[in-house]
Amino acid sequence: MQRIRLRAPSSVAARISGLCWTVALFSLMVFVAASIPEQKREIEDNLRSKARGIASSLRESLATAAVTEDYSGLVDQGAQALAGDDSIDFLLITKNDGFSLIVDRNGWRTEQLDAFWRPQQRVAVGAIEVVPLFGKRAFRFATPYSFSSIPWGWIHVGLSVDAYDHSVARLYQRTGVLAVICVAGSLLASVIFARRLVRPMLRLQAMVGKLAEGDLSARASIHSAQEIEGLAQSFNTMADSLWLRDEILESVRFAAQRFLSAAAWQTVILEVLAKIGGAAQVSRVFLLENRSAQPPEGLVGEVLREWVRPGSPGRTCASGQAEWRWTGGDWSRWAEALGRGELVSYDAGSPSAGTPGVPAPPARSSILVPIEVGGQWFGVLGFDDCVRARVWSDAERDSFRSAAGMLGAAITRQQAQEYVDNILRSMGESLLVTDPDLRIQRVNPSALRLLGYTEEQLIGQPIGGVVEGGVPVNSIAMERTCRAASGNRIPVLFSSAELRSGPGSLVGYVCLAQELTELKRTQAELVRARDAAEEANRIKSVFLATMSHELRTPLNAIIGYSQMLREDCVGPDQPEEVSDLEKIERSGYLLLGIINDILDLSKIESGRETVKAQNVDVAAVLGDVSNTLQPLARQQGNLLEIDCPEHARMAYADLSKFRQSVLNLVNNALKFTEKGRVSVAVNRLRLEGGECIEVCVSDTGIGIGRQHLAKLFQPFSQVDGSATRKYDGTGLGLAISKKYCQMMGGDITVESELGRGSRFSIRVPVGQEPVDVEQASRPGQEAAQMLHGA
Ligand code: ADP
Repeated sequence: MQRIRLRAPSSVAARISGLCWTVALFSLMVFVAASIPEQKREIEDNLRSKARGIASSLRESLATAAVTEDYSGLVDQGAQALAGDDSIDFLLITKNDGFSLIVDRNGWRTEQLDAFWRPQQRVAVGAIEVVPLFGKRAFRFATPYSFSSIPWGWIHVGLSVDAYDHSVARLYQRTGVLAVICVAGSLLASVIFARRLVRPMLRLQAMVGKLAEGDLSARASIHSAQEIEGLAQSFNTMADSLWLRDEILESVRFAAQRFLSAAAWQTVILEVLAKIGGAAQVSRVFLLENRSAQPPEGLVGEVLREWVRPGSPGRTCASGQAEWRWTGGDWSRWAEALGRGELVSYDAGSPSAGTPGVPAPPARSSILVPIEVGGQWFGVLGFDDCVRARVWSDAERDSFRSAAGMLGAAITRQQAQEYVDNILRSMGESLLVTDPDLRIQRVNPSALRLLGYTEEQLIGQPIGGVVEGGVPVNSIAMERTCRAASGNRIPVLFSSAELRSGPGSLVGYVCLAQELTELKRTQAELVRARDAAEEANRIKSVFLATMSHELRTPLNAIIGYSQMLREDCVGPDQPEEVSDLEKIERSGYLLLGIINDILDLSKIESGRETVKAQNVDVAAVLGDVSNTLQPLARQQGNLLEIDCPEHARMAYADLSKFRQSVLNLVNNALKFTEKGRVSVAVNRLRLEGGECIEVCVSDTGIGIGRQHLAKLFQPFSQVDGSATRKYDGTGLGLAISKKYCQMMGGDITVESELGRGSRFSIRVPVGQEPVDVEQASRPGQEAAQMLHGA
């Protein structure tokens, strides 16, 4: 930026007048210096010619005296000359030998004078000097005298310098007066001239000062000095452009303020367009929504709003009623440039200007400014000048771009607001937004429906007035009660979160309330249903336990009596009876097993089953199980392998429940495998919760389909539950075993694939403290009886 250093014009005036005055003074001094010596010389020349005349008049008498040596005539003539002319001080005639005749005011005399009076060079001289003989200042003129061409002597004429001095004094006096007049005159003239010269500058300075103080209406009207007038015109042009720029800036400020304060940009757009159009001194301003294709073949869109300056030609159809298209020429290129966010300006005479699809009075100059909404090209703000062809200044371009930017921001903000409003409207939950003091600032329709208040009744109220039990901030799903306008208390699930501004300062809280009335009702019904189901289950279990007990007594009697009968009938003559009695006995045991299972399950479900955990010798349990199940293994043609390493030998479990579970798994493996292999492997595992003993029962049997695995451990669940199934059983064994293992702090898991065998794993805690293996519980002999289905 260039800075112009301005001196105060008053100092300029002083300088100009000083300069003029100095020049005048110098000229005067030069004049005086040149003229005074000249005038003095003139006066001296007069004296010289006078003295020469007197000397000439003496020559004749001197010639006579030179011949006669009688100087009386000369004395008389000299005395007469002195008497007749006061200005003659003395007359002195000196011979080459020094004899001299002196005539002065005191008379005459002769003297022998020195060589001063007879200069070597015999030429006439005259000068003002102090004459030695008389001891006073005089004009002494000396001229050599020759008689008959023989140098005789000198004639000296002494003239008084009083007249000369008087003349010189008058000369100085006159010159002094003249100098004073000249100095004063030149000073006055220079001051007047300087003031006249500076006055327009002062006016201009005053205008610049006004402009600097912000008065953009200040204009300089100067019609004097051409240069200053040119400067004033430049100033006025600059002030005009400043005023225009200020007007446009003011209009942009106005646009910003209106867009910010208005809820909808549509309500203020026309007054904003009018303000900007008026400030930019254009004929029309229009807002066009872009409808151009991609890539654009021209500018196509709908004029949403338009302002037309009064008296300017308007369009031929109202805003928002027609699609406008500018095609041909450079329009596809220009539309692309607008899409990239660049400004496009063109003149009516431009050969590349296209043809508008809808006729409009042509503009001399136009400029189109793109509007961006949410990162997309929304449309353009167009400015037409129908009066003059214009070169749009940088300031105008920047201002138009700012206005378009603010309009784009207002549209974006409104769209975002509508988006949020739609979300809030469609939310089923009740939303309350508060300020940091928990006063309600905003509510959604759901909240109004829930509480039964109007928006006006809620806004500004403390949220504690509608939410009872304190409002937790930054809470997730806490139960609270809302007090509705009707006085009803509505249970809600209440959540709240801090609402922070961009820089992070707290601006309020967002609270969400979800009505729980229906949920609570359903929950209460569910609890009731659950309680009823549990009660029914308990009654069923009690019934089953009682029934099982009641069934076991007669069943044991049947088994006992059938055994007794079979022993009585043992003999070769009654083989059929023995066989029937054996069937009765086997069926009795089968039924007893089923009843035992049901009894176990009902005990577990009724909560009467307890666990007596102790250190258990797993190898002994497995040996016992193997002995029990060898007959089944042989019957099925299976190979039963057992591997129990020493370090995995001790488990901490309820002996009978552990044994029953292992027995059940191995029994199943043998049952569902034919001519295959069943292997039981024991491991000691280190898991997150601690160490455990794992008993894996793997078989190469029929396997289980993936779809059945999930339900395998449910009571009465069988893969093949049909009446014509090949394998017998009740589907209770796994359910009971799993429950037992879980009661012992372990579990049973299964991996299986249809047709490729199964692998069941029991896990129970490892023995807590080292124990003597001999002291560890060993399984009893009742395994066969506990074996379900065996
Ligand atoms: P049950 O064997 O008395 O039917 P379980 O609860 O012991 O009852 O077994 C449930 C079902 O799981 C069995 O009917 C069978 O279909 C399936 N099953 C259990 N173990 C195996 C196995 N090792 N191989 C294939 N299927 C098995």
